[in-house]
Amino acid sequence: MHFSVLFTHCPACGSVRFIQNNEKSKRCESCGFVFYMNASAAVAAFIVNSQGELLVCVRGKNPAKGTWDLPGGFVDDNETAEEAMCREIEEELRAQVVEAKYLFSLPNKYEYSGLQIPTLDMFFACKLEDISNLQPSDDVADCFFVPMDEVNPELFGLESIKKAVGMFINKNPQAPKGELD
Ligand SMILES: [Zn+2]
Repeated sequence: MHFSVLFTHCPACGSVRFIQNNEKSKRCESCGFVFYMNASAAVAAFIVNSQGELLVCVRGKNPAKGTWDLPGGFVDDNETAEEAMCREIEEELRAQVVEAKYLFSLPNKYEYSGLQIPTLDMFFACKLEDISNLQPSDDVADCFFVPMDEVNPELFGLESIKKAVGMFINKNPQAPKGELD
């Protein structure tokens, strides 16, 4: 649900005179409080092994539980995108990032607690210190490497990840030319 529908009362004073200010904000006519719904920053990693296979995770929680995903998550307050990328890889795979190279970003909508949260997903190409002993943890149920020609974007449950995987496969020189072109 869009925040403008879900947020019926002013969070500062509780007034119901919490009206639409513009498309991304609401304003309280009682106390003057203004709330902006800006995009939350998120990061996701493309990790490719020496055989040119892509690391794929399986989502352990909703939204889109059980679908394919890339490792990653939300950027915390006071954190850089690079720091968030390192932290998420540590939390989800118990591995250390030695290089995180920014690739591109995509906007997304992330449904959580009935609220549609706008996000800006930033994608990185990551190199890990050691990929031989990845341990799926936190909200990752499983992880495995998939040959690039068997990576199907449709199996990724989140829209921005689906689109990003398609873009990555097309730009990756090791990826075969074919259906995605
Ligand atoms: Zn108020």
